[in-house]
Amino acid sequence: MEGGWYPRINYELCIGCGQCYNFCPHGVYEWDEEKDRPVVVNPYECVIGCVACGKICDQDAISFPKKEEINDLIKRLREKYAHEKGGSGPGG
Ligand code: SF4
Ligand code: SF4
Repeated sequence: MEGGWYPRINYELCIGCGQCYNFCPHGVYEWDEEKDRPVVVNPYECVIGCVACGKICDQDAISFPKKEEINDLIKRLREKYAHEKGGSGPGG
């Protein structure tokens, strides 16, 4: 998993408080009982543009892709959907 919008955890900063894991309603995280740390297991469940878990992390251990990467990602997604739908008509 390289490109894509999902949180990156810096384990040098993470203290395993569990706030990110407890907060995210999308099942992006799972809890690694052995290491007592959160792990990103479902990166594609993460909502593009959401940075909520990063904001609640007191340790600043969570980061997200940069704007350029996101523009690129959105471009790729648009192209993908354009192919799948075969174009869409004007709409309200
Ligand atoms: S909120 Fe931050 S410090 Fe707490 S478990 Fe998540 S990444 Fe680690
Ligand atoms: S950014 Fe939002 S959707 Fe993604 S893992 Fe964090 S809280 Fe969940």
